Amino acid sequence: TESRKYTGIVEDCCCDYETVDSLNKEVLHPILQDLVTTPFFRYFKVKLWCDCPFWPDDGMCRLRDCSVCECPESEFPEPFKKPFHGLSADDLICQEGKPQATVDRTLDNKIFRGWIEVDNPWTYDDETDNAEMTYVNLQLNPERYTGYTGPSARRIWETIYTENCPKYPSGEFCQEKKVLYKLISGLHSSISVHIASDYLLDETDNLWGENLELLYDRVLKHPERVRNLYFTFLFVLRAVTKAPDYLEQAEYNTGNLEEDLKTQSLVRQLVYNPKLQTACPLPFDEAKLWQGESGPELKQQIQKQFRNISALMDCVGCEKCRLWGKLQILGLGTALKILFSVDHQNYINQQLQLQRNEVIALMNLLNRLSESVKFVHDKGPYAERIVGGK
Ligand code: FAD
Repeated sequence: TESRKYTGIVEDCCCDYETVDSLNKEVLHPILQDLVTTPFFRYFKVKLWCDCPFWPDDGMCRLRDCSVCECPESEFPEPFKKPFHGLSADDLICQEGKPQATVDRTLDNKIFRGWIEVDNPWTYDDETDNAEMTYVNLQLNPERYTGYTGPSARRIWETIYTENCPKYPSGEFCQEKKVLYKLISGLHSSISVHIASDYLLDETDNLWGENLELLYDRVLKHPERVRNLYFTFLFVLRAVTKAPDYLEQAEYNTGNLEEDLKTQSLVRQLVYNPKLQTACPLPFDEAKLWQGESGPELKQQIQKQFRNISALMDCVGCEKCRLWGKLQILGLGTALKILFSVDHQNYINQQLQLQRNEVIALMNLLNRLSESVKFVHDKGPYAERIVGGK
């Protein structure tokens, strides 16, 4: 039998590590991998340029490896729609860095019409369609190593942790305050796992691959970060399975009937999954939270902190990192929105309304977390032995 480092119930959740790993491998990961490639889920609407509300532009937007300059629309479509190999440097004149840093923004905003636009109280973004929005094909822009590092990146994480998401005092029992910290830490782990799983190993040969040393140093060496990753995964999974009717009946229309039926079928397989319902029917029990006397006040405080974190994403000085940072924070904000849309009997509120972009962010976030959980499960023991000497 397999020897496991992580056993028992995921802290503050309702399922154990073994169950999460096998459900993820057999059920969730395969469905999500298909789902995010469908036309509905692969396009994300986002405002990408820097307008950091907290400090002046620190110049990192021009970082060589991950920044893309704004180009006249006519410069874009053809070169960037083709596969990257075979392009000469001249084809990439409008890009300061390398092809792998390119953010494809050649989409037509027509594909986003038809859903309501409602405010998300958890995020800072302006959701209305406007000229500043770009439409990005996520499949062409995988989250991976970009070279974004140093003081700019560190300042973002530091600000998130110290100002908005204080580490809970040890010994104090206040689950609600812990939740926000754990969600962010779990997301941070997931970002690090993606950097480790798709790393630029050799710049000259443009050789990409796994960096298990980085996986070990940034994540595995700190068991708390692994636990927080599992926690965040279950939290978002709970949000997705809490609104099954809403998600199943949503309008997945992109004009391609065959693809859209497939999208709907995959969503159905996910939200009404019999294996999931049997093995882990309640991935996270939010009914226990925000219930006491100070519940409403705590909720408001956490909402405010989360909005600050959301605003900080405009300070991320690397375009592709900003794209995934914004998407995943919107996904978490959407999970929080769903989990708070309950009445006293814990029924889903009839008023729950999601934007198209929120649903896209939610599912793509769940997929990212699912990938990270799988990578840690598949490669963790080997990395611990080889790098950690265990
Ligand atoms: P960092 O990851 O920057 O961590 C800073 C400090 O936070 C650590 O020293 C540690 O004290 C603490 N910490 C680290 N992990 C955790 C955790 N899981 N829980 C709690 N505390 C923790 N880089 C890319 O290459 N590709 C990307 O797509 C990408 N996306 C990013 C998105 C965002 C929103 C941000 C802010 C940064 C992103 N980066 C990305 C940069 C990347 O996250 C790192 O900041 C960078 O690689 C430098 O890493 P580091 O070793 O200095 O530690």
